Amino acid sequence: MADLGGSGARFTPLPDRYDGNGCTNLGTVQLLALSSDDGELALSNIGALTCPVSQAFASWARFGVDRAARQILGAKLVRIETFGSYNCRNVAGTSRRSAHATASAIDISAFVLSDGRRVSVLDDWNGGSAAERQFLRTVQTSACRRFGTVLGPEYDSAHRNHFHLEGIAEGKSFCR
Ligand SMILES: [Zn+2]
Repeated sequence: MADLGGSGARFTPLPDRYDGNGCTNLGTVQLLALSSDDGELALSNIGALTCPVSQAFASWARFGVDRAARQILGAKLVRIETFGSYNCRNVAGTSRRSAHATASAIDISAFVLSDGRRVSVLDDWNGGSAAERQFLRTVQTSACRRFGTVLGPEYDSAHRNHFHLEGIAEGKSFCR
C-alpha cells in the first residue's frame, strides 16, 4: 500500500471480507483516483481491487495509457471508465470462479481524454479512427506486460466491449 500511495494513487484500504462460495476481498483497496505525469486520472465504477492489481493498474494507466494517448491521439488521459472489479461470479459459461470473485481483475470499457473525446472498446476497436484503433491496440499490448491475463475484443464476443485485466505479470502473460 505504501508503493501504491507512492505512485500518486488516492485510495482507501478496505477491510478483509469472506463472502463464502470462494468469494473474498483480501488485501483490497477502493481506488479513488490515479496519477498521470502531471495530473489526476479519474475512475468510474470501480470497487474493491487487490493491492498488487491496483499497483499494476496505476502503472499501466500512467505509463501505458496516458502516454499512448498523448503520443497517438494528441490529448491527455483524464478518466478511465470501468465495468467494475469485484464480482462474486464464475467465468461465463463455466463452473470455475472468476478472478473477479477475489477482486483480482478489472474490466476497462473506455478512456476519456482532455479534448473531451471518449474512446471506448465497444465503439472504437473497429469503428474508431485509425489513430483510435491504434491507441486501443497499443494500450492492450502494454497491459500484457503488467497483468497476468489480458482479454479483449479479439478473444470472444463477451469481451467486445472491454479489456479484462487480471492478476499481475509473472513470466509470460496470457494475452488475447
Ligand atoms: Zn473481467
